[in-house]
Amino acid sequence: MNAVRTTCPYCGVGCGLIATAQPDGTVTVAADPHHPANLGRICVKGAALGETLGLEGRQLHPQLHGERVSWDRALDYAGQRLRAIIHEHGPQAVAFYASGQLLTEDYYAANKLMKGFIGAANIDTNSRLCMSSAVVGYKRAFGADAVPCSYRDLEQTDLIMLVGSNAAWTHPVLYQRIVQAKQDNPALKVVVIDPRRTATCDIADLHLRLRPGSDAGLYNGLLRAIAEHQPIAAASFSGQLDALAQAEAWTPEKVAQFCDLSRDVVTEFYHLFCTAPRAMTLYTMGINQSTSGSDKCNAIINVHLASGKTGRIGSGPFSLTGQPNAMGGREVGGLANQLACHMNFVPEDIARLARFWGSDRIAATPGLMAVELFDAIGRGEIKAVWIMGTNPAVSLPDSERVNRVLAACPLVIVSEVSAGTDTSRHAHVRFPAQAWGEKNGTVTNSERRISRQRPFMPVPGEARPDWWIVARVAGALGYGDAFAWQHPHEVFCEHAALSGYENDGQRAFDISGLATLSREAYDSLAPIQWPVNAAHPQGCERLLSDGRGWGRDARLRMVPVTPRLPHSADQPGLVLNTGRYRDQWHTMTRTGTVPRLMQHNPLPRVEMHPEDARRYGVEDSALVRLVTPRGEMTGFARLTRDQAPGTLFAPMHWNHQFASRSGVNSLVAAHCDPLSGQPESKQTAVSLAVW
Ligand code: SF4
Repeated sequence: MNAVRTTCPYCGVGCGLIATAQPDGTVTVAADPHHPANLGRICVKGAALGETLGLEGRQLHPQLHGERVSWDRALDYAGQRLRAIIHEHGPQAVAFYASGQLLTEDYYAANKLMKGFIGAANIDTNSRLCMSSAVVGYKRAFGADAVPCSYRDLEQTDLIMLVGSNAAWTHPVLYQRIVQAKQDNPALKVVVIDPRRTATCDIADLHLRLRPGSDAGLYNGLLRAIAEHQPIAAASFSGQLDALAQAEAWTPEKVAQFCDLSRDVVTEFYHLFCTAPRAMTLYTMGINQSTSGSDKCNAIINVHLASGKTGRIGSGPFSLTGQPNAMGGREVGGLANQLACHMNFVPEDIARLARFWGSDRIAATPGLMAVELFDAIGRGEIKAVWIMGTNPAVSLPDSERVNRVLAACPLVIVSEVSAGTDTSRHAHVRFPAQAWGEKNGTVTNSERRISRQRPFMPVPGEARPDWWIVARVAGALGYGDAFAWQHPHEVFCEHAALSGYENDGQRAFDISGLATLSREAYDSLAPIQWPVNAAHPQGCERLLSDGRGWGRDARLRMVPVTPRLPHSADQPGLVLNTGRYRDQWHTMTRTGTVPRLMQHNPLPRVEMHPEDARRYGVEDSALVRLVTPRGEMTGFARLTRDQAPGTLFAPMHWNHQFASRSGVNSLVAAHCDPLSGQPESKQTAVSLAVW
């Protein structure tokens, strides 16, 4: 039996796993006891991975207009059509939409082709829906998209705040680590800040059940309390005076009223934070998926800067990523508003990339972010879109509209593992991509740790690695010399070399210490946290320890925040929150095939408070309909006092293939944060009806 060390393809915890092929052809998956992310722990989704490896529903061959064709024919067609569109309408008429499921090598290749050779920056990713507000928060405060903390901090802190995070279900192994830390140190306090009472509250010493979307008010009040508790040295941070002036009005009374909390619970929380020697804030979609998500992130970072609780053991603002390689996408420049390896759209970086890639076609201005990108397809401005490893026809807000614009787009290329996704129905060209267990490369988890995904399954049909597909299309476009890689090791080393190229320390992401890895060293690469360079040859556990950030002046910055409530706050109806179930992943293309995972929550439940149920005449388990001007969704009512009155919760997993008439994202409006472009998926005004 051949045991292979690899990394889980589901969430941003990035657990190390050991996959073992059994003589009967099955594969068992167990936790890797030596991987620093999970230290021998695993969740139910990870443990069931071996049951998801069947070939049913796989895209195994290239297809053109629904007909099987050879790779050469599919690549020629894609290259010809892209060339013709670029020739006639310019490079801005082409877009790529990528995924946090891609490996770093895949992402690097796609970003290089679009921004380096096609010459537009219209490559965005489903990570836009997940953590782009966190990126803005870090860049504004630290001058770089740099997560300062490590998982090991969880075991060395005095206070953990989980904000907009049901970690017990969405980052289960981190939750297990917190549970263990609390058992080992009963003095450790846990505060959950969430409008819902979730499974994560089981370990909470304090649950702040605040008004949906009011988090920035709570954190502004905390900043004021910190300044009162222990005066902050003058001009420690840029923006400090403005941020403190903005927070001054946020008395506990005002916070209590804004957040719909009691004054006592607000002051109890502030006391806990101000008196804890070390504190961490863990935040995720509940903060990021908002029209003011970037400001909420900075409101959180502000209190960590002001209190000195960052850059130290057991302290810091810690954004948890949703997908296995959302962080890798950030590193390679997979977001439309950044260039590769933390470079920006400034003349020096553009010239630097031109030198490194040997191209005079580097994109000069930011591209379109996810929602804008599909809007531009709808307006006919983008005439070709290549979608890699994601299903925007289900996962983007206003998803029925996304289906309509894809149906009208002149060229849709889809690289996919699954044959029957809602998005691939619109594809003119389908490329069969390799799946987890077949592909070979790296991912980066929430704590900046780069780990290897290694193959342990035979490659089925004609599936190919995503980086290979990108390189072949680049060849068909005439750029083959710059994409002549034969192995992911070569892609990785090029990416690592670029991260250190003319990097004088202003760019946080630097893995130049891995640029000359041999093929063998790449194959056996142990998990390591970036930066990895001359200063940190063994990687780096904690950033900001010297009190300096990145960029021109490297000064840390507090950002003044004006709290704003979500769009739904002044609209009639109930407020719908969307999220995950414990045992499901995304649109269930993998987890939905495993009976034991379906048992936990087999149906899409619309959770509501009994008072609301009485008001709307809804009984437990009744079939109910959620409706907005954009779409509707059907689910089964679940009455629970875990849900605050006036609010609903529905899972994001079901779509047309399952019980619902359409997915939950058909309800969600495409209102976005103006800075991050992240949609407000957590608070949508909906009306409710009984079938
Ligand atoms: Fe995979 Fe996340 Fe579970 Fe770890 S916690 S096994 S990364 S799904």
